[in-house]
Amino acid sequence: MVQAVGEVQAFRADVAKLLHLMVHSVYSDRDIFLRELLSNAADACEKLRYEALADPGLAAAPFLITIAIDKEAGTLAIEDNGIGMSADELADQLGTIASSGTRAFLERAGVLRTPAAEPDEAPESEADTLERDASADARSLDLVGQFGIGFYSAFMVADHVDVVSRRAGVTEAFAWRSDGKGTFSIEPRTLSEAPAQGTRVVLHLSSAAKDYLEATRIERIVREHSSALTVPIELREAVGAEPRRLTDGSALWTKPKATISAEDYAEFYHSLGGVFDEPALTVHWRAEGRQEYTVLAFVPGSRPFDLFDPARQGRGKLYVRKVLITDDAELLPRWLRFVRLVVDSADLPLNVSREMIQESPLLGAIKKGVANRILQELRKLAETEPEKLDAIWNNFGVVLKEGLYEEPERRDALFEIARFSTSTHPDGGRTLSAYVAGLKTNQTAIYYLLGEDAKRLAASPQLEGFRARGIEVLLLPDPVDAFWVASAVGFDGKPFKSVTQGAADIKAVPLLDEKAETPSEPPAAGLATLYALMKQVLGEAVADVRASDRLSESPACLVAADHGPDRRLERMLAEHGRLGATSKPVLEVNPAHPLIKSLVGMVSAPDKRKVEDVIWLVLDEARLMEGDTPTSASEFAARLTRILVDACAAAE
Ligand code: ADP
Ligand code: MG
Repeated sequence: MVQAVGEVQAFRADVAKLLHLMVHSVYSDRDIFLRELLSNAADACEKLRYEALADPGLAAAPFLITIAIDKEAGTLAIEDNGIGMSADELADQLGTIASSGTRAFLERAGVLRTPAAEPDEAPESEADTLERDASADARSLDLVGQFGIGFYSAFMVADHVDVVSRRAGVTEAFAWRSDGKGTFSIEPRTLSEAPAQGTRVVLHLSSAAKDYLEATRIERIVREHSSALTVPIELREAVGAEPRRLTDGSALWTKPKATISAEDYAEFYHSLGGVFDEPALTVHWRAEGRQEYTVLAFVPGSRPFDLFDPARQGRGKLYVRKVLITDDAELLPRWLRFVRLVVDSADLPLNVSREMIQESPLLGAIKKGVANRILQELRKLAETEPEKLDAIWNNFGVVLKEGLYEEPERRDALFEIARFSTSTHPDGGRTLSAYVAGLKTNQTAIYYLLGEDAKRLAASPQLEGFRARGIEVLLLPDPVDAFWVASAVGFDGKPFKSVTQGAADIKAVPLLDEKAETPSEPPAAGLATLYALMKQVLGEAVADVRASDRLSESPACLVAADHGPDRRLERMLAEHGRLGATSKPVLEVNPAHPLIKSLVGMVSAPDKRKVEDVIWLVLDEARLMEGDTPTSASEFAARLTRILVDACAAAE
C-alpha cells in the first residue's frame, strides 16, 4: 500500500540544495531551529483540533508539546500529540519543500532558479551545483535568520534526524530518517516505539551543537520565541525526570477581554520587554471584516529610554495565527512609536520573510487600522478621563506632534488630543478648542511663540502686548513645533500666527486696562530721528527699526520681517546647515519705555559713543531675551562696562 516504505529515497533537488546550505552554514543564530519545530508541533495540534470538528472520534487528549533532553544519547526530542503523519505524508511533506518561507529563502540565497530564467543552459552536474551553492553560502548566512525555514533547519544542529509519527486515528507508525546529505528512508515502527498519537522529532545533535542539551538554554529559547504558541510546552530535563511546564499555551490576546485582569495585562506588557511601569492605556480589540486580526496595545506609563532614538523605530510583535513572525515589525507610524503592541493576523501568509511581510499590502492595511484605533482610543480618553490623557500627552506629546507634521490627514484628530502650555496656562493641559473658545474680541488668529524652553518663552518680551490685551499665546518649546505649525492651515478656521513674525495686528483688540491705552510717548519727530540713528548705528545687524505694539514693559524685541520665516524655525534650519544665512530681524522698540524716551533726548548729545553703546546694548539685550547670544561678546562686555563705569561714577 505504501510505496514510500523501505526504500532509500532522494530528496527533491531543491531540498538537497537547502540541506547542503544548512549543513555548511556557520550562521550563529541556530536557535531558530527550535522555533520552527515547535511551531510545526503546534500547527499539528491545531490541524487535529480542526479535523476533530468533523470527526469527533479523533478528539484528542489535551494538546501538549514535550521537549526531552537525553544527555547520554546526545539527543533533543520534540514531541507533540497532534495530527501526525502517515508514511506517504512523511515522504511528501519532509521530502519536498512545503514551506513558502523556505522557497523564498532559497531564491534569495541564489540556489533556486526558475527553469524559465535560463532556458539555454545545459543541465548542471551535482558537483557544479554544490560548488555554486558553496559560494552562495556567504550570502545565505545572513539570510537564514530572516526566514521561516521550516523543518530543515533541524539540520543546522543535527547530524541526523529521526521523525517517528503516528497519524491520529490510525494504528500504524513510521519512522523517517535522514542525515541531511541528500537521501532519506522510511521504516515501519511498532506502536510502542511511537507516540500514542502525533510526532516525535529526535535530533541527534552534532558535536558543535551539544549546548542544546542544556535545559536553561532550551528554556530561554522557548520563552523568547515560542511562549505565545497556543499549545503548552513542557521540558523533560533528563530521562525519567518529571516534565516541567515552560509555557501555558494560552496567548493572552486570544482570550475574551472579560476574563483578563488588569494584572494579566500588566504582566503581559512587562513581558514585551524593557518596561516595568504600569501601562497608561491598554487597548485590546479584534478587527473583523476584510481582514481579521487581533491587537493588544499598550501606551507606557513613562517614557521608554529609547523614545528619542534617531532611528525612531516603533517595535511591535507580529504574529500570524499565533506564530511569532518577528518582534520588531513596523506596525505603527513613527509618531506612535512609543506604543508597545502585539498584532496577530489571521490573513498574512505564515513563513514568509520579514521583509516580504513588511511590504505586504495586507500589513499596510493593518498598520492603518491600528493607528486609527489607537488615535480613536486616545480621543475617547480625552473625553472620559482627561487627566489620563494629560499624563500621556506629557510623556509622549512631543512624539505625537510629529504626526501633525507627517500625516496632515490625521491633523484634526491629533488636534483633539493635543495639549499646550500657553501664556495664560503656563502649566499646560490647554486644548485648542479651549483656546478658540477664549478668543478676544477682534482676535482673528491663534498666536504662538516658538522657543527652546517653556519657562523662557513665558517671560518673552514679545508677549507683553498680548498679555496687556488678554490674548492667549501658545508656547511651543519642541523642535517639531516649528514644522507642524508652519504647515498647518489652522484650527477651527483660525490661522496659526507667530507673535514674532511681521507686524503684530493686535491693535484692534482692546487693552484690558483702558487707562493704559494712551501711554505718553515722545513726539513723533524725535522718535523718527532716533529710529534713523539706530538703523545707521546697527547697520547690517537689523533689517529695520520701528515702534512696536507688542511691548509694554521691555524696551525692545526682535521680530521677523513681515513676510520672513519665523525666527526660531530659521535658526533651527541654519543649525542643521539647511539654510545658508538667516534673514535679518526687525528691531521693534517700545516708545513709551523710559529708556527709549531718554534715548530720544540723547540723539543730538555730544557724547556719540555713549548713544551708540546704549543702542547696541538694546539690540544685544533683545537677542539675549530670545535665547541668542550678543553679536560680539567682547564688544558687548566693553560697552556694558563703559556704561556701568558712568553709572557708578554718577552715583558716587
Ligand atoms: P511549513 O511548516 O511552513 O509547512 P515545514 O518545513 O516547517 O514547513 O514543515 C513541512 C511540513 O511537514 C509541514 O507542512 C507539515 O505538513 C509537516 N510536519 C512537520 N512537522 C510536523 C509535525 N510535528 N506533525 C505533523 N506534521 C508535521
Ligand atoms: Mg513549519
